[in-house]
Amino acid sequence: MKNALISGGAGGLGKAIALELVKSGYRVFVADLSNARENFESWKSTFENNGEHLHFVALNVTDYENCLAVVKQIETHGGVDVLVNAAGVTQDVSLRKMEPAQWRKVLSVNLDGAFYLCRATINGMIERDFGRIINISSVNGLQGQFGQTNYAASKAGLHGLTMSLARETAAKGITVNSISPGYCNTEMVAAIPSEHLQKITAQIPAGRLAQPEEIARVVNFLAAEESAYITGANIPVTGGYWMGF
Ligand code: NAD
Repeated sequence: MKNALISGGAGGLGKAIALELVKSGYRVFVADLSNARENFESWKSTFENNGEHLHFVALNVTDYENCLAVVKQIETHGGVDVLVNAAGVTQDVSLRKMEPAQWRKVLSVNLDGAFYLCRATINGMIERDFGRIINISSVNGLQGQFGQTNYAASKAGLHGLTMSLARETAAKGITVNSISPGYCNTEMVAAIPSEHLQKITAQIPAGRLAQPEEIARVVNFLAAEESAYITGANIPVTGGYWMGF
Protein backbone atom coordinates (compact mmCIF):
# COMPACT_ATOMS: atom_id res chain seq x y z
CA MET A 1 0.00 0.00 0.00
CA LYS A 2 1.42 3.40 -0.99
CA ASN A 3 1.55 6.25 1.52
CA ALA A 4 0.39 9.77 0.78
CA LEU A 5 1.14 12.76 2.99
CA ILE A 6 -1.08 15.81 2.51
CA SER A 7 -0.11 19.02 4.27
CA GLY A 8 -3.11 21.20 5.07
CA GLY A 9 -5.02 17.96 4.63
CA ALA A 10 -7.85 18.95 6.96
CA GLY A 11 -8.75 21.96 4.81
CA GLY A 12 -11.41 22.19 2.11
CA LEU A 13 -9.23 20.93 -0.73
CA GLY A 14 -7.12 18.70 1.55
CA LYS A 15 -10.10 16.63 2.69
CA ALA A 16 -11.31 16.11 -0.87
CA ILE A 17 -7.79 15.05 -1.89
CA ALA A 18 -7.54 12.71 1.11
CA LEU A 19 -10.81 11.04 0.23
CA GLU A 20 -9.92 10.66 -3.43
CA LEU A 21 -6.55 9.08 -2.59
CA VAL A 22 -8.04 6.75 0.02
CA LYS A 23 -10.57 5.58 -2.54
CA SER A 24 -7.65 4.87 -4.90
CA GLY A 25 -6.04 2.62 -2.30
CA TYR A 26 -3.49 4.86 -0.59
CA ARG A 27 -2.83 5.06 3.13
CA VAL A 28 -3.30 8.77 3.70
CA PHE A 29 -1.64 10.90 6.35
CA VAL A 30 -3.50 14.15 6.77
CA ALA A 31 -1.00 16.60 8.26
CA ASP A 32 -2.45 19.77 9.65
CA LEU A 33 -2.28 22.09 12.64
CA SER A 34 -3.20 20.32 15.88
CA ASN A 35 -6.33 22.45 16.30
CA ALA A 36 -7.72 20.90 13.10
CA ARG A 37 -7.72 17.38 14.57
CA GLU A 38 -11.15 17.39 16.19
CA ASN A 39 -12.91 18.65 13.09
CA PHE A 40 -11.07 16.16 10.93
CA GLU A 41 -11.85 13.21 13.20
CA SER A 42 -15.57 13.98 13.16
CA TRP A 43 -15.47 14.27 9.34
CA LYS A 44 -13.57 10.98 9.11
CA SER A 45 -16.08 9.19 11.32
CA THR A 46 -18.70 9.64 8.60
CA PHE A 47 -16.78 7.22 6.31
CA GLU A 48 -17.13 3.72 7.65
CA ASN A 49 -15.03 1.98 5.04
CA ASN A 50 -12.69 4.73 3.93
CA GLY A 51 -11.87 5.97 7.40
CA GLU A 52 -9.50 3.16 8.36
CA HIS A 53 -6.71 4.37 6.06
CA LEU A 54 -7.07 8.06 6.94
CA HIS A 55 -4.67 9.16 9.68
CA PHE A 56 -4.36 12.61 11.22
CA VAL A 57 -0.86 13.85 12.09
CA ALA A 58 -0.30 17.16 13.84
CA LEU A 59 2.11 19.26 11.80
CA ASN A 60 3.07 22.88 11.55
CA VAL A 61 4.77 23.13 8.16
CA THR A 62 6.70 26.23 9.22
CA ASP A 63 8.65 24.08 11.70
CA TYR A 64 11.35 22.09 9.85
CA GLU A 65 12.07 19.76 12.80
CA ASN A 66 8.36 18.96 12.97
CA CYS A 67 8.34 18.15 9.23
CA LEU A 68 11.34 15.84 9.66
CA ALA A 69 9.70 14.06 12.60
CA VAL A 70 6.41 13.48 10.75
CA VAL A 71 8.19 12.10 7.69
CA LYS A 72 10.28 9.85 9.94
CA GLN A 73 7.12 8.56 11.59
CA ILE A 74 5.72 7.63 8.16
CA GLU A 75 8.96 5.80 7.34
CA THR A 76 7.84 3.10 9.80
CA HIS A 77 4.99 2.45 7.33
CA GLY A 78 7.33 2.36 4.31
CA GLY A 79 7.90 6.06 3.72
CA VAL A 80 6.17 8.86 1.85
CA ASP A 81 5.41 7.90 -1.77
CA VAL A 82 3.14 10.81 -2.58
CA LEU A 83 3.57 14.28 -1.09
CA VAL A 84 0.85 16.85 -1.61
CA ASN A 85 1.76 20.34 -0.43
CA ALA A 86 -1.64 21.90 0.18
CA ALA A 87 -1.11 23.88 3.41
CA GLY A 88 -1.80 27.48 2.59
CA VAL A 89 -2.95 30.75 4.09
CA THR A 90 -3.90 34.18 2.83
CA GLN A 91 -3.39 37.58 4.48
CA ASP A 92 -4.80 39.88 1.82
CA VAL A 93 -3.92 43.56 1.90
CA SER A 94 -2.45 45.92 -0.68
CA LEU A 95 1.32 46.17 -0.55
CA ARG A 96 1.26 49.80 0.53
CA LYS A 97 -0.37 48.67 3.77
CA MET A 98 1.20 45.24 4.16
CA GLU A 99 3.21 44.63 7.32
CA PRO A 100 6.39 42.54 7.07
CA ALA A 101 4.75 40.00 9.40
CA GLN A 102 1.91 39.49 6.89
CA TRP A 103 4.42 38.90 4.12
CA ARG A 104 6.47 36.48 6.26
CA LYS A 105 3.46 34.51 7.49
CA VAL A 106 2.19 33.74 3.99
CA LEU A 107 5.62 32.99 2.56
CA SER A 108 6.53 30.78 5.51
CA VAL A 109 3.44 28.56 5.31
CA ASN A 110 2.94 28.47 1.54
CA LEU A 111 6.53 28.33 0.31
CA ASP A 112 8.94 27.51 3.16
CA GLY A 113 6.55 24.77 4.28
CA ALA A 114 6.58 23.16 0.84
CA PHE A 115 10.39 23.32 0.75
CA TYR A 116 10.65 21.74 4.24
CA LEU A 117 8.42 18.82 3.27
CA CYS A 118 10.14 18.32 -0.09
CA ARG A 119 13.49 18.36 1.70
CA ALA A 120 12.27 15.93 4.36
CA THR A 121 10.86 13.43 1.85
CA ILE A 122 13.10 13.62 -1.21
CA ASN A 123 15.95 11.37 -0.08
CA GLY A 124 13.56 8.57 0.87
CA MET A 125 11.90 8.84 -2.54
CA ILE A 126 15.30 8.69 -4.25
CA GLU A 127 16.25 5.59 -2.24
CA ARG A 128 12.97 3.89 -3.22
CA ASP A 129 13.22 5.03 -6.89
CA PHE A 130 9.70 6.38 -6.72
CA GLY A 131 7.99 9.58 -5.71
CA ARG A 132 5.21 11.94 -6.62
CA ILE A 133 5.26 15.54 -5.39
CA ILE A 134 2.24 17.69 -6.12
CA ASN A 135 2.32 21.32 -5.10
CA ILE A 136 -1.01 23.11 -4.81
CA SER A 137 -0.26 26.52 -6.26
CA SER A 138 -2.93 28.94 -7.50
CA VAL A 139 -4.10 30.76 -10.58
CA ASN A 140 -3.11 33.90 -8.71
CA GLY A 141 0.49 32.70 -8.74
CA LEU A 142 0.25 32.86 -12.54
CA GLN A 143 -1.52 36.18 -12.97
CA GLY A 144 -1.23 38.05 -9.65
CA GLN A 145 -4.17 39.49 -7.76
CA PHE A 146 -4.92 42.82 -6.11
CA GLY A 147 -4.12 42.57 -2.40
CA GLN A 148 -2.15 39.35 -2.81
CA THR A 149 1.49 40.29 -3.40
CA ASN A 150 2.46 37.92 -0.58
CA TYR A 151 0.17 35.06 -1.67
CA ALA A 152 0.92 35.41 -5.40
CA ALA A 153 4.67 35.53 -4.70
CA SER A 154 4.44 32.38 -2.60
CA LYS A 155 2.42 30.55 -5.25
CA ALA A 156 4.65 31.72 -8.12
CA GLY A 157 7.59 30.57 -6.00
CA LEU A 158 6.04 27.11 -5.88
CA HIS A 159 6.27 26.93 -9.69
CA GLY A 160 10.01 27.65 -9.54
CA LEU A 161 10.45 25.05 -6.81
CA THR A 162 8.41 22.54 -8.84
CA MET A 163 10.34 22.97 -12.09
CA SER A 164 13.78 22.96 -10.47
CA LEU A 165 13.12 19.92 -8.28
CA ALA A 166 11.57 18.15 -11.29
CA ARG A 167 14.86 18.62 -13.15
CA GLU A 168 16.86 17.34 -10.18
CA THR A 169 14.80 14.16 -9.79
CA ALA A 170 13.37 13.27 -13.23
CA ALA A 171 15.85 10.43 -13.74
CA LYS A 172 15.10 8.94 -10.33
CA GLY A 173 11.49 7.83 -10.75
CA ILE A 174 10.18 10.99 -9.15
CA THR A 175 7.79 13.50 -10.67
CA VAL A 176 7.19 17.00 -9.33
CA ASN A 177 4.22 18.98 -10.61
CA SER A 178 1.97 21.79 -9.56
CA ILE A 179 -1.74 22.34 -9.86
CA SER A 180 -3.10 25.86 -10.10
CA PRO A 181 -6.72 25.85 -8.98
CA GLY A 182 -8.93 28.77 -9.78
CA TYR A 183 -11.51 29.79 -7.21
CA CYS A 184 -12.88 26.80 -5.32
CA ASN A 185 -15.84 26.27 -3.08
CA THR A 186 -13.95 26.21 0.26
CA GLU A 187 -13.65 28.29 3.42
CA MET A 188 -10.64 30.14 2.01
CA VAL A 189 -12.86 31.57 -0.72
CA ALA A 190 -15.84 32.02 1.60
CA ALA A 191 -13.68 34.66 3.32
CA ILE A 192 -13.79 36.84 0.17
CA PRO A 193 -16.50 39.55 0.43
CA SER A 194 -19.52 38.32 -1.58
CA GLU A 195 -19.65 41.38 -3.84
CA HIS A 196 -16.02 40.82 -4.87
CA LEU A 197 -16.61 37.09 -5.30
CA GLN A 198 -19.57 37.73 -7.59
CA LYS A 199 -17.34 39.90 -9.80
CA ILE A 200 -14.74 37.13 -9.95
CA THR A 201 -17.35 34.44 -10.73
CA ALA A 202 -18.65 36.57 -13.59
CA GLN A 203 -15.18 36.31 -15.17
CA ILE A 204 -15.06 32.50 -14.99
CA PRO A 205 -16.15 31.02 -18.35
CA ALA A 206 -17.60 27.98 -16.55
CA GLY A 207 -19.75 30.43 -14.58
CA ARG A 208 -19.12 28.81 -11.19
CA LEU A 209 -16.51 27.98 -8.57
CA ALA A 210 -14.66 24.66 -8.67
CA GLN A 211 -15.77 21.88 -6.39
CA PRO A 212 -12.86 20.54 -4.26
CA GLU A 213 -13.35 17.09 -5.83
CA GLU A 214 -12.50 18.59 -9.22
CA ILE A 215 -9.04 19.51 -7.91
CA ALA A 216 -8.66 16.20 -6.05
CA ARG A 217 -9.10 14.11 -9.19
CA VAL A 218 -6.17 15.93 -10.83
CA VAL A 219 -4.02 15.18 -7.78
CA ASN A 220 -5.02 11.53 -8.06
CA PHE A 221 -4.12 11.53 -11.74
CA LEU A 222 -0.67 13.01 -11.14
CA ALA A 223 -0.03 10.64 -8.23
CA ALA A 224 -0.57 7.52 -10.34
CA GLU A 225 2.39 5.37 -11.35
CA GLU A 226 1.20 5.68 -14.97
CA SER A 227 1.72 9.47 -14.85
CA ALA A 228 5.49 8.91 -14.78
CA TYR A 229 6.21 11.06 -17.86
CA ILE A 230 4.56 14.21 -16.55
CA THR A 231 7.03 16.24 -14.56
CA GLY A 232 7.80 19.92 -14.10
CA ALA A 233 4.28 20.68 -15.33
CA ASN A 234 1.64 22.99 -14.01
CA ILE A 235 -2.00 22.05 -14.53
CA PRO A 236 -4.44 24.95 -14.24
CA VAL A 237 -7.91 23.85 -13.08
CA THR A 238 -9.85 27.06 -13.41
CA GLY A 239 -13.08 26.60 -15.39
CA GLY A 240 -11.42 28.56 -18.17
CA TYR A 241 -10.52 31.53 -15.93
CA TRP A 242 -6.86 31.02 -16.86
CA MET A 243 -6.06 30.00 -20.43
CA GLY A 244 -2.39 30.95 -20.68
CA PHE A 245 0.29 28.55 -21.84
P1 NAD B 1 -8.27 25.83 3.67
O1 NAD B 1 -8.07 27.09 4.45
O2 NAD B 1 -9.59 25.15 3.74
O3 NAD B 1 -7.15 24.77 4.03
C1 NAD B 1 -5.83 25.11 4.29
C2 NAD B 1 -5.32 24.19 5.38
O4 NAD B 1 -3.96 24.52 5.65
C3 NAD B 1 -6.11 24.37 6.68
O5 NAD B 1 -6.62 23.11 7.11
C4 NAD B 1 -5.08 24.92 7.65
O6 NAD B 1 -5.25 24.48 8.99
C5 NAD B 1 -3.79 24.38 7.04
N1 NAD B 1 -2.63 25.15 7.50
C6 NAD B 1 -2.51 26.48 7.62
N2 NAD B 1 -1.31 26.79 8.16
C7 NAD B 1 -0.67 25.61 8.35
C8 NAD B 1 0.59 25.26 8.89
N3 NAD B 1 1.45 26.20 9.33
N4 NAD B 1 0.93 23.96 8.97
C9 NAD B 1 0.06 23.00 8.52
N5 NAD B 1 -1.14 23.26 8.02
C10 NAD B 1 -1.50 24.56 7.94
O7 NAD B 1 -7.91 26.20 2.18
P2 NAD B 1 -8.12 25.35 0.85
O8 NAD B 1 -9.07 26.08 0.04
O9 NAD B 1 -8.35 23.93 1.17
O10 NAD B 1 -6.68 25.53 0.20
C11 NAD B 1 -5.75 24.46 0.08
C12 NAD B 1 -4.61 24.93 -0.80
O11 NAD B 1 -5.12 25.26 -2.09
C13 NAD B 1 -3.91 26.18 -0.28
O12 NAD B 1 -2.53 26.07 -0.52
C14 NAD B 1 -4.51 27.28 -1.14
O13 NAD B 1 -3.63 28.37 -1.25
C15 NAD B 1 -4.70 26.55 -2.45
N6 NAD B 1 -5.72 27.16 -3.30
C16 NAD B 1 -7.01 27.28 -2.87
C17 NAD B 1 -7.93 27.87 -3.71
C18 NAD B 1 -9.37 28.02 -3.32
O14 NAD B 1 -10.11 28.64 -4.08
N7 NAD B 1 -9.82 27.49 -2.20
C19 NAD B 1 -7.55 28.32 -4.97
C20 NAD B 1 -6.24 28.19 -5.37
C21 NAD B 1 -5.33 27.59 -4.52
